[in-house]
Amino acid sequence: MIDFTEIDIDGEVWESFARDFLEELGFYIESTPDRGADGGKDLLITEQLQGQLNKYKFRWLVSCKHYATSKRSVSEKDEINIQERVEGFNADGFIGFYSTLPSSGLNSRLNQLKINGKIKDFRFFDGKLIENHLVRIGYSRLLLRYLPESYRKIKPKHLIFDKYIPIKCDRCGKDLIENHHEENYDGIVCNAEIHHDGKPSEVIDVYYACKGDCDKYFEGYYWNNFKAITRWQDISDISIPVFYLKWIMGTLNEIESGNKVYTEKAFKKTKQITLALSQIVMREMTEKEKERVMALSSIPDYM
Ligand SMILES: [Zn+2]
Repeated sequence: MIDFTEIDIDGEVWESFARDFLEELGFYIESTPDRGADGGKDLLITEQLQGQLNKYKFRWLVSCKHYATSKRSVSEKDEINIQERVEGFNADGFIGFYSTLPSSGLNSRLNQLKINGKIKDFRFFDGKLIENHLVRIGYSRLLLRYLPESYRKIKPKHLIFDKYIPIKCDRCGKDLIENHHEENYDGIVCNAEIHHDGKPSEVIDVYYACKGDCDKYFEGYYWNNFKAITRWQDISDISIPVFYLKWIMGTLNEIESGNKVYTEKAFKKTKQITLALSQIVMREMTEKEKERVMALSSIPDYM
């Protein structure tokens, strides 16, 4: 999904990316990258550990290696003098920040150092783990800055409101927009409508559901209890900018024409999914725009 070869293999971009990524994750960056003995770059970061009574600083030495182009894993030969480097920086643990995978040999070597008490702990951020973070909400600016092509493919969600709004299946609770970039089209939004002769149709409820069993359950429920038919839209479809607009306009037009009336509950659910999908459809705000929003303190009353 994410192609790390977008990041130039020469230069120091991978190290800068590691620094910004780990900062976003909540680490404190102690030192900008320093050239290590092996020609690679090491970074020092700290995190606060909470004990029963005290807070402790845990310092990690981060080794950055970018082998995405050759696709080879990072081996023991690539990570020389780990113990000396960790000691030299007064660090507690070691992090390998790699665009590929660590070799099993390197993994065993670090395990050994840990068992022998030479280092307190170690972790790997490999390509897959980094990707898992990047596709989540909150990393879109990092993705846009360092991996613009992947950004276009993934269409990450943006934080438009002060917290992420999920769209949960009303039956099983699964977040239907969490993995929208996989385009697996497994979520739908449905209007349950009652048709009245010579009068406007009434949308009595709007529900979100997984395709299949969850949807069938509601379809049956509304038909058996209210003789209401359900009209559905693919959530992945209405996440496409032009269909998103069509969906909003369509709803407005129906109401304006008087062909349809919504119950309060149904209208609220329609607004809720419109807000949630804006996290996918809209573009990221610029810093200037964010400042403007703050200046106007105009968090409008959307709901
Ligand atoms: Zn479901």
